[in-house]
Amino acid sequence: MFRPTGFAEKRTLSVNFSLIVKNAATKVKKAAMKKTFIFFFILSRLKKTKFFSLNFNHSFLEDYMRSTAWNDEENKVLPEMALDFMPEEKLRDLQLQRMRATVKLAYEKVPLFRERMDEKGLKPEDIKSLKDVAKLPFTMKKDLRDTYPYGLFAVDLSEVVRLHASSGTTGKPIVVGYTKEDMDVWAQVVKRGLLACGFRSTDIVQNFYGYGLFTGGLGIHGGFEALGATVIPISGGNTERQVMLMKDFGVTAVGGTPSYFVRIIDVAEKMGVDIRDLKVKRGIFGAEPWSDGMRDYIEEKTGIKAYDIYGLSEIVGPGVGCECECRDGIHIFEDHFYPEIVDPETLEPLPDGEEGELVLSTLSKKAMPIIRYRTRDITAIEKTKCKCGRTIRRIRRIGRRSDDMIIMRGVNVFPSQIETALLRAEKALPHYQIVLDTKNNMDTLEVKVEVSRDMVSDSMSDMEQLNKKFKHSIEQILGISVIVTLCEPDSLPRSEGKAKRVIDNRKKM
Ligand SMILES: [Zn+2]
Repeated sequence: MFRPTGFAEKRTLSVNFSLIVKNAATKVKKAAMKKTFIFFFILSRLKKTKFFSLNFNHSFLEDYMRSTAWNDEENKVLPEMALDFMPEEKLRDLQLQRMRATVKLAYEKVPLFRERMDEKGLKPEDIKSLKDVAKLPFTMKKDLRDTYPYGLFAVDLSEVVRLHASSGTTGKPIVVGYTKEDMDVWAQVVKRGLLACGFRSTDIVQNFYGYGLFTGGLGIHGGFEALGATVIPISGGNTERQVMLMKDFGVTAVGGTPSYFVRIIDVAEKMGVDIRDLKVKRGIFGAEPWSDGMRDYIEEKTGIKAYDIYGLSEIVGPGVGCECECRDGIHIFEDHFYPEIVDPETLEPLPDGEEGELVLSTLSKKAMPIIRYRTRDITAIEKTKCKCGRTIRRIRRIGRRSDDMIIMRGVNVFPSQIETALLRAEKALPHYQIVLDTKNNMDTLEVKVEVSRDMVSDSMSDMEQLNKKFKHSIEQILGISVIVTLCEPDSLPRSEGKAKRVIDNRKKM
């Protein structure tokens, strides 16, 4: 008879199997115990070596988020904004801890930073107070180019979840990277900026910042999503469609470069759409310096409130700082970015209230910690407290970038000054372009001004008068003679992102 043998075999097998499982379990247990022991051992060592300064998270921050002791004024402050109102000494304490952690991280992981520290004979432990930050080496845009693409990264690429890059019109682009945590911080700072300007989760937002490698589009987008608003990721371009969607989608808020919004205003007018009749109530603008005159122009033409958001890709993108409802300077999100003002010539730190070059350090960035980045932006840190009560300090709005500075016959000229002059002359913002040239060995500055339809006149003398008015206004502000050329409506090139205002054809000596 056939007798199944399977049972006995099965039993042996199962015994063997259970033995294997048992052995494995003991092994795992032993390993786990060993690991736990090692973990606690390391923990105890770390505590002793103060390695814990590397911890970027502080539980007291969470306490502040819950605290009502300093934010219960008429319930105006939402819990998400709480960090903007942190008691000042706590904020400085947090900045110092985070700065030390950032310096340590960069010293350990970024060869260029370590080399520069070693050249100065500096060690991360030498940063004992915020005053010591002035001892640290600067970072320049050139450093980002020279280490292209990943030379300044402090983490393995596997931890990087996003890359952005500059457009690279001059030389190699600069590349910036973000870990998951960096992305969260980015979205949160933009969100805090938006909240400070009165944006809410109920807003329907048209985002015409350029999407893509440029940090503007996706940076602002992340903030709006974190806020819970409805975002329309339309990006720049196709201006007629921008106007159509603004109307049809019931858009309540917009974001983008101010120069492109001016373009949208023009096109809307031509389409017979008055933005004042639409639901749009506020706009967040940035990525290029824009004057108060331009703000007045935008607000008058559209009936919206226009706010300035500040940032730069090298640090995080938009969201380094933002205006509040008071619109009296840009609050820097100081728990994540440390601002200093230095004399652009001597590079010595300047006290609050004095104008100089803005230098920024990241305080929590993991993928690419940046220490003392020279922004080229000319501003000052405000000495006085903002009426909104935020304890995070403000910088004056950036009207000038030292990179944009034109040196014309020994005089420093900024495009924003020309913008102010044009606005003063006609109380309108004509589209303009600055052309620099050399004629008979002499540098010339020509301002091409596009006249709007209501400025156009058949009378030659009217047009001459207008030309004189612009010329006089510009020369009064700049203090040098300029050539003004009036151009026909829509004849100057338009940009769909950052405006290209200056064309330099001068002969280089
Ligand atoms: Zn404020």
